[in-house]
Amino acid sequence: MKRLTKVSVVAFAASVALTAALPLEGCRMPQNVRKAPTPGASPGAEDKAAAADSRAAADPLAVHRAAVAVDMHADTVQFIIDDGADINRRLTTTHLDAVRMKEGGLDAQFFSVWVEPETYGLKGARAVARADEQVAAVRALAERHPETWTLATSAADIRRAKEEGKLAALLGLEGGYAIDEKIENVERFYRMGVRYLTPTWTASTSWAGSSGDTEGQTRGLDDFGRRVIREMNRLGMLVDVSHVSDKTFQDIVETSSRPVIATHSNARAIADVPRNLTDEQIRALAAKGGVVCVVFYPAFVEPGWRELKERVDAEIAPLVREAGRRAVEGRGSFRRIARDRVREREYLKRLPAVPLARLVDHIDHIVRLVGVRYVGLGSDFDGIQATPRDLSSVADLPNLTAELLRRGYSEQDVHHILGGNILRVMEEVERGTGR
Ligand SMILES: [Zn+2]
Repeated sequence: MKRLTKVSVVAFAASVALTAALPLEGCRMPQNVRKAPTPGASPGAEDKAAAADSRAAADPLAVHRAAVAVDMHADTVQFIIDDGADINRRLTTTHLDAVRMKEGGLDAQFFSVWVEPETYGLKGARAVARADEQVAAVRALAERHPETWTLATSAADIRRAKEEGKLAALLGLEGGYAIDEKIENVERFYRMGVRYLTPTWTASTSWAGSSGDTEGQTRGLDDFGRRVIREMNRLGMLVDVSHVSDKTFQDIVETSSRPVIATHSNARAIADVPRNLTDEQIRALAAKGGVVCVVFYPAFVEPGWRELKERVDAEIAPLVREAGRRAVEGRGSFRRIARDRVREREYLKRLPAVPLARLVDHIDHIVRLVGVRYVGLGSDFDGIQATPRDLSSVADLPNLTAELLRRGYSEQDVHHILGGNILRVMEEVERGTGR
């Protein structure tokens, strides 16, 4: 039983009304997906029969396990280094561990190397050291548990790991704080194994604007920012636009000579938040050959959910503060982890569950706009304090495949979405080709 306050109930009713107004065109997807992604295309009777046949034949779990599944974003490293999480065992304190990755048929995980600006600054030696520590933690997975993990730095490494029955661990640097405004540090992190860089998290750097603060609204890339993008192109490092401001997005797309990706962002046409992408931005990424990887966080999935969460945040502020105050011993982000645990517990009790189907609405929307070759997955597991229903950990990923098949996506489409599209972009960027 959810404990919704009176205010929350009213707001939730408003959110349901908003939701009901959105187009739910999943049943029209198979024809749009396999042929031209023309909005409003009308399916023929033969196509309908063929789609029904393929749905009947497709066993979701078998389809899922045959795919090379790649997730572009998880924040699990914070739990490893600050909370002592051993992700080689089944855990209840994280969304992801090796046991549940295998159950959920996830073959490759990009671990986010995230430097919290509040704690480590927007630049400087402490920010660099914090990133280094996280890179070392991911590399240690493969060094200490080679039977389970392999460090991957290319699409070929991911495919090989799948063939060998191992989990591929990859590195992405979220927020450019750790390059410390030095161009040579881009190559330094590349050599350490980092294969994508997101210029900002929720705070702008001096050289790139964030969607999360006011200066980001007017800040694009400066000369140094453009040099960073060109250096990433030269090295074969993926450029990630999740978190950047609209102005910076535009500058990145204009500067990059290689495909650009969004590692964890949804469609603003459905959930109108700055972290999501406009239709124009989704078209711009696809035109460059990039991929939009959908994020599982309900605030970016469900219209109106973010506003409800803000009300709950105000209600639970004393509880959250108390949790931070009690967390007296620990290191790094331990105090934030303690506060987030309270948020997670209270959101579950106080906020409406968001169905997995709503996340698939974002995939449908992107596919309708640009086609099935430009969408992927970026869960943000372990960086979010709520998940969609039936997608509460990495073990639940087959539920996503089941919903895609139910909506009429073919087995091949599902394989593209689960990982094939991002492998294609990785290969293009590694070869120095692309648009
Ligand atoms: Zn993020």
